[in-house]
Amino acid sequence: MFKLVLISGAYGVDPVNGWVRKNWSILVEGSEIVDAGERGLMRTRYPSEEEHHGKRTLLMPALVNCHTHLPMVLLRSASSQLTMERWFSDVVYPREKILRSNPELVKLGSKVALAEMVLEGVGAVVDMYFMEEQVVQAGLEIGVKGVYTYGLADVGDESKMRSELNSAKSLFGMIRRLGKKSVKTAIAPHAIYTCSPSLLKEASRLADELSLPVHIHLAERSDELKLVEKMYNVRASSYSSYLDSVGLMRSSLLGFHGTQLTQEDISRLGSVGAGVVANPTSNLRLGNGISPVSLFAKYGVLRGFGTDGACSNDEQSVLRELKMAALLSTVQGSAGLTEWEILRAAVSPMTFLFGDRVGLERGCVANIALYEMDIGFNAESNIPRGIIYSPSGLRCTHTMIDGRFLVRDGSLTDISTDELMSDYSKAVSIIESKVGSEQL
Ligand SMILES: [Zn+2]
Repeated sequence: MFKLVLISGAYGVDPVNGWVRKNWSILVEGSEIVDAGERGLMRTRYPSEEEHHGKRTLLMPALVNCHTHLPMVLLRSASSQLTMERWFSDVVYPREKILRSNPELVKLGSKVALAEMVLEGVGAVVDMYFMEEQVVQAGLEIGVKGVYTYGLADVGDESKMRSELNSAKSLFGMIRRLGKKSVKTAIAPHAIYTCSPSLLKEASRLADELSLPVHIHLAERSDELKLVEKMYNVRASSYSSYLDSVGLMRSSLLGFHGTQLTQEDISRLGSVGAGVVANPTSNLRLGNGISPVSLFAKYGVLRGFGTDGACSNDEQSVLRELKMAALLSTVQGSAGLTEWEILRAAVSPMTFLFGDRVGLERGCVANIALYEMDIGFNAESNIPRGIIYSPSGLRCTHTMIDGRFLVRDGSLTDISTDELMSDYSKAVSIIESKVGSEQL
């Protein structure tokens, strides 16, 4: 028998069904919302159940961070105003070299990033990194749902190609042994320029063999097609045609960024049922351009929003990505994205990633975030608009995933934030001192 828990908001916001209701309560049993309705009625129906509510609360489905590299919080604020090339060679590469021989730091960084995210109402992440087994362990300890992927990259080295594919297979084996519906993987070639055409074709074959989706950084930087032609001596006239030539144009393809995609690419991706995740802040931070979010929506490819890693987006905040996407969509002219389209894209990935029914109604999975509408929030105005444009006025007090509280009354339920912060500082000091001594 599961305990029944009532969670109530002064407002309930259900982006999937497109409504805002005053004084909305949900009753959770196990991992499911088993009843929902106006708070007064629900209190009469369930007078003695434990209730979580507040005078100025806002209840909505949990957010999904659709693209990140969790351990990169260890590299937060490590760079400023560099081209992507120098960002990688001068900042990322020397630090990740240290992480490769310190797996415990990869796990710690992942926990820090996940703690930050669940404290904002995020309940699931899509991650790509190396030593991803460590990231999975962190996800299990924090309690989020996750799609954890090993980022394949061989840069044309055939022996590396084999070991990279083996790493992805080994992660798949680990996740299959866990047997959890909330822990998934995908085959994730890092990008078209870091993977040889042979590796991309092998990735396509492996995804077919294991029945897994394909994740890839796609058209993030402006020189990717040129790099592919130069490095691998193949023709790459457009992103969509190149993906097609290596067997990756498919409905399960999820591309991250897409700043350089043309209208024709986006239309072709849409026609095969592929998706794109927008990462607007990271694109600006690395000078990679503007995410064409309105076009993504127009052609039905917008699957969600991601922060990307903290070395290119220091704040791992999905809410702030929504604001950035909305602002960029306005700059791109025409009607832009509606508030409901943005909010839907922020919560509905729970369905295509994990098969969960999303919403605040009976029969939905209890993946919930409860926020206090603080001094920076106008509760008497348009609520969906407020969520997108004044995110700093929202303070997450409760995050529930599969009916389990990961955050309650503003604090992580199982983990001491103080200890985590102290370990975080120590880890960053170790990395920075090692980088410093190697550069001397
Ligand atoms: Zn990325």
